[in-house]
Amino acid sequence: MNLGLKIGTILNSKYMTNNDCFRAGRKISPKGIMIHSTATPGVRAAAWFNLWNKSYQAGETNRQVCVHAFVDDQEIWQYLPWDHRGWHAGGEANNSHIGIEICEPGGFQYAGSTMVGYDVAKQEAYFRKAWQNAVDLTAWLCRKFNLTERDVIGHAEGHRIGIASNHADPLHWFAQHKESMDSFRAAVKKALDEEQAERPLGITVGTVVAIKPGTRHYYPGGPAIPDWVIQGSYHKVTQTLSRGKPVVRGGKECVLLGKKVNKKTEAESAGIMTWIDKGALIIIVPTAKETEEREPLATKAVPEEDKTYYRVQVGAFTKRENAEALLKQLEAAGFEGYIRS
Ligand SMILES: [Zn+2]
Repeated sequence: MNLGLKIGTILNSKYMTNNDCFRAGRKISPKGIMIHSTATPGVRAAAWFNLWNKSYQAGETNRQVCVHAFVDDQEIWQYLPWDHRGWHAGGEANNSHIGIEICEPGGFQYAGSTMVGYDVAKQEAYFRKAWQNAVDLTAWLCRKFNLTERDVIGHAEGHRIGIASNHADPLHWFAQHKESMDSFRAAVKKALDEEQAERPLGITVGTVVAIKPGTRHYYPGGPAIPDWVIQGSYHKVTQTLSRGKPVVRGGKECVLLGKKVNKKTEAESAGIMTWIDKGALIIIVPTAKETEEREPLATKAVPEEDKTYYRVQVGAFTKRENAEALLKQLEAAGFEGYIRS
């Protein structure tokens, strides 16, 4: 299963395994998203791989830097796992924020930090597409990590609140096109709202969903939903009918979320066996058939180097608490794990 990006632009993933940041292997739980722009005219998202997939320690580059993704007007390239600690902020934000670089177009130069010869009218079409790709990726990450547009900041804003180095990006470029981080956040909010309004209709068996944050009960008058059910994982719909008929509880059409889906590993385990109002759900991954019919461009498989993962079982337990205790130790040591029952 692929928890793919449901946007118009292709998400490509290839990790910068030679970059010391990747090798440091530190994990974060993302609490926000920091937006940058490259301040390097004309270098596109795909081209950054060869520029940055180098080791400072081995003397291959003079920069210690790595970011989660680059976006241009046509492509998105992910270069670090989303929960990997990046080196993009030059400050505390590396411990909490996913970093996204928007690639600036060619056709101008920098004199110091000033854009020289930047023709706003000529660059407008490129800017709008790159901006939209960044908005869509940011909204998708917000859903994936239970964040909202309020958790999105620009590098320059990060400096102002003391968690990033003193850079002007991406505001210096946004301002050329009469945009700001506030208008970027508004666009992310709009994307999130549209997503939530559109999606609940297509929920069928096999759809991977999240429970809308703030949902208190499985259905009107039904049992309360514990927070860990809402925040801990995605869920897969395993049943929509009972004896051939839709299941209605509290006046709402309900479905059964029979599988939990780990947000990071995508591993499935036993789910919650309580019927839940469809309207309380957000679609994360439509069922396969819908994906084909509606969203043919969602993702493209790219051959990756070092993409082999080996799974290691570290214990078998009769008590779940013991398994959870070991998993905590593993995670503290920087490994990703999950419990299979
Ligand atoms: Zn920056």
